Amino acid sequence: MGTRGEVEGAQAEIRRRNLSRLLQELHVSRPLSRSELAARLHLDRSTVASLVAELAARGIVQEHHRSNSIPQSPGRPSPVVELRRDGPGALAIDLATDWMGAAVVGLGGKVIVSTRREASLSNSKPEKVVEDLGSLVRPLLASLENGPRIVAIGVSVPGLVRSEDGRLHEAPALGWRNVPIGQLIRNEFADLDVPVFVGNDADLAASAEHLRGSGRGTTDFICIWGEGGLGAGIVVDGRLIGGSAGYAGEVGHVTVDPDGDLCHCGARGCLESVVGEEALLRRSGRNPMGGTAAIEDLIAAADRGDKAALSALAESGRGLGIGIAGLVNIFNPNRVSLGGLYARVYPYVRAPILRELEKRAMPAPRAMVDLVTVRLGNALLLGAAELALAPLLNDPAIMSLQQEPAPSDANDVPETFASRAPGLLAQG
Ligand SMILES: [Zn+2]
Repeated sequence: MGTRGEVEGAQAEIRRRNLSRLLQELHVSRPLSRSELAARLHLDRSTVASLVAELAARGIVQEHHRSNSIPQSPGRPSPVVELRRDGPGALAIDLATDWMGAAVVGLGGKVIVSTRREASLSNSKPEKVVEDLGSLVRPLLASLENGPRIVAIGVSVPGLVRSEDGRLHEAPALGWRNVPIGQLIRNEFADLDVPVFVGNDADLAASAEHLRGSGRGTTDFICIWGEGGLGAGIVVDGRLIGGSAGYAGEVGHVTVDPDGDLCHCGARGCLESVVGEEALLRRSGRNPMGGTAAIEDLIAAADRGDKAALSALAESGRGLGIGIAGLVNIFNPNRVSLGGLYARVYPYVRAPILRELEKRAMPAPRAMVDLVTVRLGNALLLGAAELALAPLLNDPAIMSLQQEPAPSDANDVPETFASRAPGLLAQG
């Protein structure tokens, strides 16, 4: 038998988990009626009513009655619960080698406003980049009308990020090492006074694609992301794997040619140095630092049937196929999705990738894997927003109460707000 305090603690934990499940369900679905929510979450309707009342009191959801709905059961029709447009949201930031982008994203993955500036960030000072970012983002924030309240900032960077504190350990493609990027961005947007979360680009692309794009419905999913560098976000049994410190997934730095070219990371013959953007451009006779414009030029040449362009792309596809075959053997994914550069050149690399898979992946895991491209146009920003909103989705009570929760039904009071910590009641 637990003490009274333990019992109350366990009840509070159950309620937190149910609030989180309900919000998560609305986050990935369209608006749902209370009865649909009850069915999906296996909760009784009075519990759902009470959870919805709390989310409404915290300014996260609102309810309305469907004007033309026919009640499915006798009695009043079930009200529809939807996310508030002016509810919590995230400022999502994407720092890439050739551009910086930003968006305000509400719950439900709704992009409210977004902006982007083409600029080479390679070898520029992080402080200068963050200052430029400030000048890009301020007008965006000013343009928000009746938009979400920003509760956190999520940042995508092409490098190794320590999950504990968001420190960018190394971003070879940017030439950055040991940059406290989260702190710099927090200082730049000090007036917002919100936490900043930083993630690796491939990981964030994988998490957004898994939730809403090409990986939806899979349990084991790999997103290969090439934009400047090359990395992978790996979802195993529904969860993105980070490794012990958050550095996992650096597929681009697996050795494929021990005597190959020197890689940005300092090793030789990494997959990235064989199939990455620079290698592809160099092999096709273009400036390896030419960035997006040079890649567009390469694709245009391939479209015209230019032999050098086609053979450079086929060679990259072959190397990529070797890398993917290894991943298929290790992780047995349902689906592998190619994003960034590799989505743009997909028509030219698909056949060589499949050939290498045929040769090198074990028949059983190979037979069950699909090769596709990413589906979201802004996977990095959506992934950054997911990262920023994760603490709220995990515990919606971090949003303070704006009003006392309305008693939702006379006969439904299995849990009361009085059981919550008094400190939370005092807020808002
Ligand atoms: Zn390397």
